[in-house]
Amino acid sequence: MKNTIIEYFVDLVKIDSESKNEKEIAIKLAKDLENLGAKIKFDKANKQTSGNIGNLYAYFSGNIDKAPLLFNAHMDTVTPGNRVKPQISDKKITSDGNTILGSDDKSGIAQIIYAIKDLKDKNEDHAPIEVLFTISEEIGLLGAKNVNYAWLNSNFGFAMDAHNVGEITIGAPAQNSIKFIIHGLEAHAGVAPQEGINAIKIAAEAIAKMPMGKIDDETTSNVGIIEGGKATNIVPNKVVIKAEARSHNSEKLKEITDEMTNILTEQTHKYKVKDFTASVDIEIEKEYDSFHLEPEDKIVKLSKKASDNCNLKFSAQIAGGGSDANIFNANGLPMVIAGTGMNKVHTVNEFMKIEDLQSGRDWIREIIKEYSKNS
Ligand SMILES: [Zn+2]
Repeated sequence: MKNTIIEYFVDLVKIDSESKNEKEIAIKLAKDLENLGAKIKFDKANKQTSGNIGNLYAYFSGNIDKAPLLFNAHMDTVTPGNRVKPQISDKKITSDGNTILGSDDKSGIAQIIYAIKDLKDKNEDHAPIEVLFTISEEIGLLGAKNVNYAWLNSNFGFAMDAHNVGEITIGAPAQNSIKFIIHGLEAHAGVAPQEGINAIKIAAEAIAKMPMGKIDDETTSNVGIIEGGKATNIVPNKVVIKAEARSHNSEKLKEITDEMTNILTEQTHKYKVKDFTASVDIEIEKEYDSFHLEPEDKIVKLSKKASDNCNLKFSAQIAGGGSDANIFNANGLPMVIAGTGMNKVHTVNEFMKIEDLQSGRDWIREIIKEYSKNS
């Protein structure tokens, strides 16, 4: 293994690992974890995701008799994530501007591995540690959704997958994805438009009536994609609308989802030509549940203590998005999302400060030490 976390991180970002193509990086990480003394195994989550390898699980037995502590990061990246050419200055690491960097989430991976390496190098006693590197987080948390939860014995854990080092996220909303397919009636737009039902017009009217954006402090909704029509001289008979709704409150999520679907259904059914009535197919998919941890929870206190030890600024926030942590929490395993220092993720301007790469590693090391100390 490389001497410094910087060299190691640079090696990781050079490995192509867009979602479903995590095999190469996973094999390398498995080898490195084994070299540090872990027992490793892969699950078969990729059978559900059509990826080329499963989630990677590693167990460090430790020499303090306690339940293990879990650290998670995801191995996949968004696109354009292949052939990353890292540019290293004395302060930060970027891509060459043609791709993302992949600090989301390889900064988390490198920090977890080098925190453990530090403990091993210094022969420090520590509690057992579980590491779970997931696949296909970026395409719907598919790895986490297919984890074999019976493998995990930790009482709580850390998803290293957020912005500021030292800060954690203790709550995130639930999300529904909603797909509407409006069926109108095709007709010649110049010769006999009265014989058709314009699906684009229905869509426009319904969307205009829908509540959208920030609904309240804990609820949002959005129409993000609309597709339909073939030519200007055809009354279009089909429109597909893709929307989403999020809320920290499950009742409000249901309410906003119902409101959006009711508006579309009502608007569609107003249109009839002879014995044909316009219709709409609605598909609602729950992407993930919300989660909320309390400031008094052990894991929150542990994060803060370790942050203080490292002179990092601590905060416990509520997020607007979902991550693997939503899935872990829904499966009864409390997880916070912890910052690694990643910046401008999912863009070609993504960057990672060298200082953050190191302080994130130190923070994790301190979390493990504090956890190992206290009962
Ligand atoms: Zn991520």
